[in-house]
Amino acid sequence: MPTDPVLVVHGGAWAMPDDMVEAHIQGARNALQAGWRVLDGGGSALDAVEEAVVIMEDDDTFDAGRGSFLNREGRVQLDALIMDGATLRAGGVGCVEHLLNPVRAARKILSESPHVYFVGEGAEKFAAEHGIPLCKNEDLIIPREMERLRKYQQEIARAGRSDDSSSQAGKELFAPEISHDTVGAVGLDRDGNIAAATSTGGTLNKAPGRLGDSSLIGCGCYADNLSAAASTTGWGEPIMKLVLAKWTADRIAAGNLPEWAAQEAMNHLKQRLDGHGGIIVLNRDGQIGIAHNTPRMAWAYRTVKKQEAGIERNAL
Ligand code: ASP
Repeated sequence: MPTDPVLVVHGGAWAMPDDMVEAHIQGARNALQAGWRVLDGGGSALDAVEEAVVIMEDDDTFDAGRGSFLNREGRVQLDALIMDGATLRAGGVGCVEHLLNPVRAARKILSESPHVYFVGEGAEKFAAEHGIPLCKNEDLIIPREMERLRKYQQEIARAGRSDDSSSQAGKELFAPEISHDTVGAVGLDRDGNIAAATSTGGTLNKAPGRLGDSSLIGCGCYADNLSAAASTTGWGEPIMKLVLAKWTADRIAAGNLPEWAAQEAMNHLKQRLDGHGGIIVLNRDGQIGIAHNTPRMAWAYRTVKKQEAGIERNAL
């Protein structure tokens, strides 16, 4: 018997100011619509999460694709992962600088390569060889982000501070007030398969070559039909140390509800490493979990019966 499809998307978890709420909700809704079109037409969860993430990569609102945070050298460096719960096939790219939609390259890796990860120039070469056009790094940069980086670097210089995560400035940089606008999607298709995808520009003023949690299997993204599909956002270093997406999926495999597991993941992140962020989770029964330990998180979900979007969600 065919399964009823479900799609959940997120557009980052942080203390989003009031004047940015509408753009985030609209962006999440647009992504939901694109992914739902795929699922509704009988398409795969894998295609649906890819299409949903592409929409948010194309939207300047989010820290993914064009409009992403700039690194210390004023360049955009992007990470993305996509994973198929039916086969455990995955594709990831890290530190790419010339792709408008890194999730498309990640998908090509999943579908057409025996490998799982490509980084930097190798990833771009793979993408180009598989028909994905390369762009200039400047095509990914917008004035808002140039200004944000300029201000941040000026502040550090004025205070004579380092911005590594153990310093005060570093703590402020990674505080929930600072934008964590990574995007992600989890989906369930009519064949009963689940998939997940996550895409990010990483953190503001990051060192060149810094890879975050988002493109790492089990950290920023995970999908296994035997447990769950999950996508996270937030301060990447604590999330990757806890392998948080897999941690959450394991709790669901052990018989817990996604709603409970998502909330527990956020408690674990806070209690174990004083980390912050958000997570969306979905199991094969179509049960979902959305949780964050930041003041706000942009999310949206759709089932055959219901459709909702918002910026706060601590219990379903
Ligand atoms: N998790 C991302 C990273 O650390 C950032 C974010 O979610 O905004 O690269």
